[in-house]
Amino acid sequence: MNLRRRLELREDQWLSPFAARSAASRGRLKPEDECSLRPSFQHDRDRILYSKAFRRLKHKTQVFLAPTGDHYRTRLTHTLEVAQIARTLARGLKLNEDLTEAIALGHDLGHTPFGHAGESVLNRLLPEGFHHWEQSLRVVDVLEKDGQGLNLTHEVRMGIQGHSKGRGQFLAAPGEEPGLTLEAQLVRAADVMAYIAHDTDDAARGGVIAQEDLPTLVLQVLGPRLSRQIDTMVRDLLNQTLAGDGNCLLMSPQVTEAMWELREFLYQRVYDNLEVHADFIKASKVIEELFERLVKDDRFYLAQVGELPPPGERPRRAADYIAGMTDRYALSLYEQTFLPRPWGRF
Ligand code: MG
Repeated sequence: MNLRRRLELREDQWLSPFAARSAASRGRLKPEDECSLRPSFQHDRDRILYSKAFRRLKHKTQVFLAPTGDHYRTRLTHTLEVAQIARTLARGLKLNEDLTEAIALGHDLGHTPFGHAGESVLNRLLPEGFHHWEQSLRVVDVLEKDGQGLNLTHEVRMGIQGHSKGRGQFLAAPGEEPGLTLEAQLVRAADVMAYIAHDTDDAARGGVIAQEDLPTLVLQVLGPRLSRQIDTMVRDLLNQTLAGDGNCLLMSPQVTEAMWELREFLYQRVYDNLEVHADFIKASKVIEELFERLVKDDRFYLAQVGELPPPGERPRRAADYIAGMTDRYALSLYEQTFLPRPWGRF
């Protein structure tokens, strides 16, 4: 019996009846022989970790645009914090940790440069619209490995696509989303826990807010600092879910309300803050002008991306190319393309 099979049997013995099992996966887009060492979700986790899109997350905006301070989060550190929280939750609930980690590491691969500013520009310019969670799936299915995709399992793909509920509820009601594994729902909850805590921390670091500005309910229930906030949210989800039937994730009304309040506070004071936002208006112009140039100028497209696509696919391909850029790549391409360079010879 190979190691993968032994690990699959261990999953059967250890995991909750509501957990997803590697051996019971609905399979990959293209059938392939499974690895003899790693169960399928563990293999997917590794494929995501070694992808180029994953490495580019280190230079993509989380909240602050291309931060030069070393301690601000980027998409990469956000992703790692989400994975960390989600794995703690998965282990505590006896859910599939490999599946949880694979979804967490892949959930933000489709983010554009400059965060939501880049996303909303592409959403306006592309006839079919643009959403980062759909783009994350496109990255793993189509764009990675020079157009071959990573050929991930159905459960990881659905978790990546279903990770965001925007500003809405972050826990699904029982039976509300039957196609989504509990592991995918855990990542969605961990995503919110991670970003409300670390964005508060970064906003305080950047002097945009002071910790004592936090709403009273947030201070009372979640506490002023990141470590206690995350500890409170994680314990609450574990305790409430373990006290229930185990087939859906639960949190107490008190902690849920404090999380909502902190998220609204961040929207008002940080994400929509004029000082933070001013550079995103400039960044939107960078994305828009690069997009127009890629769509209209054959020579520019050929020089950047390579072979011209069929005419109808040009906007989609241009958006793929731009979405893959890091903040610093987009800024430097804009500078080379649109700004004059001083003559350097004396
Ligand atoms: Mg995220």
